[in-house]
Amino acid sequence: MTTYFNYPSKELQDELRSIAQKIVAPGKGILAADESVSTMGKRLKDIGVENTDENRRAYRQLLFTTDDKLAENISGVILFDETVYQKADDGTPFVQLLKKKGIIPGIKVDTGVVNLMGSEDETTTQGLDDLAKRCAKYKKEGCDFAKWRCVLKIGKNTPSYQAILENANVLARYASICQSERIVPIVEPEVLPDGDHDLDRAQKVTETVLAAVYKALNDHHVYLEGTLLKPNMVTAGQGAKKNTPEEIALATVTALSRTVPAAVPGITFLSGGQSEEEASVNLSAINNAPAPRPWKLTFSYGRALQASVLRAWGGKKENIAAGQQELINRAKANGDASLGKYVAGSAGSGSGSLFIANHAY
Ligand code: 13P
Repeated sequence: MTTYFNYPSKELQDELRSIAQKIVAPGKGILAADESVSTMGKRLKDIGVENTDENRRAYRQLLFTTDDKLAENISGVILFDETVYQKADDGTPFVQLLKKKGIIPGIKVDTGVVNLMGSEDETTTQGLDDLAKRCAKYKKEGCDFAKWRCVLKIGKNTPSYQAILENANVLARYASICQSERIVPIVEPEVLPDGDHDLDRAQKVTETVLAAVYKALNDHHVYLEGTLLKPNMVTAGQGAKKNTPEEIALATVTALSRTVPAAVPGITFLSGGQSEEEASVNLSAINNAPAPRPWKLTFSYGRALQASVLRAWGGKKENIAAGQQELINRAKANGDASLGKYVAGSAGSGSGSLFIANHAY
């Protein structure tokens, strides 16, 4: 075994570290608006809106033309490919609209999951082949960070060694390719909440998965200061009894403190089917957990930032302002939560459960 390595140049390290740190600036987090065309279709169907290019554009315009004060709590937005090239009614590209507000545009670069043959319905995530070329193109368009989601499932025999190793390695390859193109990779190994397992099992699986991910990132010489982690919170399975926010927080921070190096600047949780209110309350509890927390702990929510927005909008022009107010409201709640200061109930009741079985993105 050789231990030859080559750190990135100082300029590249500085650029990557500075982007990552801006994203996890105090009181700020990420809006994940990178739903694929089909996932966005499901969200629009729920509010009776047809899944057309124009309706997806109109909805994203609602999000991105929200008052500038959104930037007090939102530092970055993850986009889907088509959105990178869409424009507001006045012709301003969405990417420029976000940058003008001081919000960093990001991009989902994985192309979805595929089954691993011989496994119990486990998956890996595709999209490596032309990734360097796509990253270079997105960087030119103004995107400074990326997301790649891998999925692990808890069952009697899962996650398997095969799935843990494969997903850790593909995340590490993705991360190293992004960094070579001056893009900060958000590394997302999501352990799904499907199942009736208890909190301990979720914690142990999350620890095992994260340990494998950080071994692979090290093997691939990924510059950790220029990355972010997007994990699940540690919760019991959907079919099991719910734990208190304090129990969830302690299990989550304990798992992270055992596996995520202090060099990583921030951890931006996914909401994973929690209701809007649960996602805010749990994040606040995490930021008060009695366990080591050397990184920023904030949000990168999709469903838990958009459910009330979609419902308030309902596809109607006259409801745009109401939708935008919901976004400001939830962004502020989660910004407070990232400082450990969210008071339960203070942002209104929010949505009910947003759980979707075997969630695809
Ligand atoms: P949720 O917050 O809806 O889980 O989605 C976040 C995300 O970006 C998943 O990849």
